[in-house]
Amino acid sequence: MSPDAAIYDPRAFRLTPQEGELTALARRLGAEAFAGRAEGYDRDASFPSANYDDLHAAGLLGICVPKAHGGHGAPYRAYMLTAAEIGRYCGATALTFNMHVCSCLWSGDLADDLDMATGARALHEIRRARHYARIVKEGRIYAQPFSEGGPAAAGVVPFATTATKVDGGWSITGKKIFASLAGHAHYYGVLCGQVKPGQKPSRKDTMYIAVPADAKGVSVEGDWDPLGMRATVSRNLVFKDVLVADDEELMPRGVYYQAATRWPHMFMTLSPAYMGIAQAAYDFTVKYLRGEWPGLAPVKRRMYPTKQIALAEMRVRLEQTKALWFQAISEAGPDPDKEQVLRAYAAQFTVMENANELCRLAIRTCGGQSMLRSLPIERLYRDSRCGSLMLPWTAEICLDRIGREGLYEPGETD
Ligand SMILES: Cc1cc2nc3c(=O)[nH]c(=O)nc-3n(C[C@H](O)[C@H](O)[C@H](O)COP(=O)(O)OP(=O)(O)OC[C@H]3O[C@@H](n4cnc5c(N)ncnc54)[C@H](O)[C@@H]3O)c2cc1C
Repeated sequence: MSPDAAIYDPRAFRLTPQEGELTALARRLGAEAFAGRAEGYDRDASFPSANYDDLHAAGLLGICVPKAHGGHGAPYRAYMLTAAEIGRYCGATALTFNMHVCSCLWSGDLADDLDMATGARALHEIRRARHYARIVKEGRIYAQPFSEGGPAAAGVVPFATTATKVDGGWSITGKKIFASLAGHAHYYGVLCGQVKPGQKPSRKDTMYIAVPADAKGVSVEGDWDPLGMRATVSRNLVFKDVLVADDEELMPRGVYYQAATRWPHMFMTLSPAYMGIAQAAYDFTVKYLRGEWPGLAPVKRRMYPTKQIALAEMRVRLEQTKALWFQAISEAGPDPDKEQVLRAYAAQFTVMENANELCRLAIRTCGGQSMLRSLPIERLYRDSRCGSLMLPWTAEICLDRIGREGLYEPGETD
């Protein structure tokens, strides 16, 4: 079988040389290693540890670590394109990779785009160097527990998980749900609210701090037996008076809130996993209808007009998804204008919904045998269903905002 073509052909989409190289590396790892392991990890709902060993060996754990610190120094778009190639072969690896990479992207390129006092920036530089060294030299993995089961992860209210100042550091208490990599990450990059005695909790006081997984008071709870994205192992995390050193702050205080309001494309980083799934559903359908899926009898189904029409419909939907997503990730940056923000919501909605729609069409078109567990499309179908649920930009929240912000200018009411 010929090797898979790039999702985004470097010449056609005018990718940078770095984007071309990183996406090719991810595609090779995905096709040669991750694709073959995906079924087992999915069946057992077990964490893709071997994939993470490979990502470390290939230097990809440090994809967004600046070159001066031994990483690839990949900017946002290069990361997004690379993660999409990973998602094509193992959605759960790409999704958890996002949680890890955000610890570098947010503390790196994003933080560099935001306002900080000179002293705070100098201290941040020292702190992030330690954090980058752990990743690049020791292969340490970071998770990103954000969700709490209430409106905080939607960005509506402050996080209920708290950080209280103590001598030399912080005491963290709270509970996170759906914490991908729970029990497998070395550090949990926790979003929590700084307790300011005598003051009401405020989203402006959100902190982003790395809690060592082996710190006293950290526990992983609950089982994990979901519909899809099973290998993310997104169990609950409980923090009970966990003492964390000052140096574990991944962003200076106040900067996360600034990022969330001034760099909104930061919340699109969950989408590459699903862009990859969308491509994989199309690729599968072509191979299956041509009778070229490895291990299956070479039965051709491509001669039926209804199947050709369905494939055409899939192709149109895939191209629409790719084009909008590429535009949105190309214009990510600080202080986007209203049109760019609305486009980002539309791109997120489109990828998450279309990934699932493409999988649905793939199964309907390929027919009964395609839904057997020995083939990847039923896993892709289940994994793709999770995309629209991912806070803070769920499909519903994207629609809410596109509708409201398209009709009202800031401050307008009826
Ligand atoms: C496979 C998978 C992996 C995940 N990994 C992580 C992870 O690593 N880290 C992490 O932090 N989270 C993760 N999540 C969690 C995910 O982002 C959501 O937070 C989670 O699905 C929320 O579940 P819920 O049932 O509480 O959601 P919902 O009930 O949909 O939302 C939670 C709250 O958000 C508010 N809300 C929901 N919809 C709207 C709306 N339209 N308008 C206004 N407010 C709204 C409501 O207050 C609601 O109670 C993961 C989820 C999945 C499926």
